[in-house]
Amino acid sequence: MAHVIVITGPSGVGKGTVIRLLRERIPAVRLSISATTRDPRPGERDGVEYHFLTESRFNQLIAEGAFAEHARYAGQLYGTLRSELERQGDGVVVLEIELQGARQIRESMPDALQVFIAPPSFETLRERLVGRGTDSQQTIDERLEVARNELKAQNEFSEVIINDRLGDAVDALERLVQTQLRGAVD
Ligand code: 5GP
Repeated sequence: MAHVIVITGPSGVGKGTVIRLLRERIPAVRLSISATTRDPRPGERDGVEYHFLTESRFNQLIAEGAFAEHARYAGQLYGTLRSELERQGDGVVVLEIELQGARQIRESMPDALQVFIAPPSFETLRERLVGRGTDSQQTIDERLEVARNELKAQNEFSEVIINDRLGDAVDALERLVQTQLRGAVD
């Protein structure tokens, strides 16, 4: 079974960028490709960034017990397929997921490392979501509303990394993951 590292934190905090840089430094780290019912953004490809599913297909997979965790986030369904974890063998796999999913994994896989990535301030989140230019104003407002609640939950996490300077955040995550990897081979 794979060693699972859960990385959570509000939308716009830079989880994706931090994880991409982490994987450049530690190529052994795999990324679980989530399933979602949201529409692909320009440039996103099915089976690469996400498995893009219809709501009925997603619900069918829930009924079949195919998900290790799933949650509704800003009106859309997101989930980690068990098959994504199984195909990683005994490697290290990162789940980039929102809070409810992180809580489900905490219950089902208590040994998984759980890292919360926090913004230096709420205002920087707003700036990043607007600056990303990928979402409508309504979507941004929804995500900021969710983010407000997610930020309150960061004290559930033993590992919190503040993504102020990107390089520092990647350094901190790399240290945590190296420790986890050493544990994996011991
Ligand atoms: P986005 O639509 O911006 O790609 O993702 C929205 C949120 O859903 C992000 O916080 C992201 O981490 C989260 N997310 C992505 N995949 C999953 C998943 O498989 N499960 C859960 N619970 N959340 C996910």
